[in-house]
Amino acid sequence: MKIDFKKMDGLVPAIIQDAFSGTVLMQGFMNEEALAKTEKSGLVTFYSRSKNRLWTKGETSGNFMEVVSIAFDCDGDSILIKANPRGPVCHTGADTCFAEVNSSKTGFIDHLRTIIKDRKNNPTDQSYTASLFAKGINKVAQKVGEEAVEIVIEAKDDNKELFMGEAADLLYHYLVLLEAKGYELDEVMDVLIERHKK
Ligand SMILES: [Zn+2]
Repeated sequence: MKIDFKKMDGLVPAIIQDAFSGTVLMQGFMNEEALAKTEKSGLVTFYSRSKNRLWTKGETSGNFMEVVSIAFDCDGDSILIKANPRGPVCHTGADTCFAEVNSSKTGFIDHLRTIIKDRKNNPTDQSYTASLFAKGINKVAQKVGEEAVEIVIEAKDDNKELFMGEAADLLYHYLVLLEAKGYELDEVMDVLIERHKK
């Protein structure tokens, strides 16, 4: 599907969504040139109806929005862009133009899982994750055990930086273990959701 710019006098709405949190950040309009510039530069660029010219979001504030993916809707008259905002999106200083808080970074876990899956399916010599898969399930499970012990040790101390490091290690190795077993995080969520119902 391509965009049919003629359908609406050369302009189509573009919805910008945070690639990690899924929060809708803003909506603007793009003409063919704006879309081409967005694709080429990797920075979201609109056609500004008030300025009457192309407008790269962040060109004055520095709060650019880096493009992660671009999709067109089913009938070719709107654009969905997933992006990473470098700062608050709205000129008011709010995170989004809908005055919402965009603080959730948990969507990054899905991004991380995609990378982990890719390292399993397309291993490279440089990849630590691929080297874990190569060592097999026992080694991966053992690493989770080691990281669990390390976070326990840090929990008893009072060093936030070291604790966060171990917390990140545990979460990462836990995700690798799920992937090594061929299970999805969603299946773990199903268990939690089921328990929550009771
Ligand atoms: Zn705004």
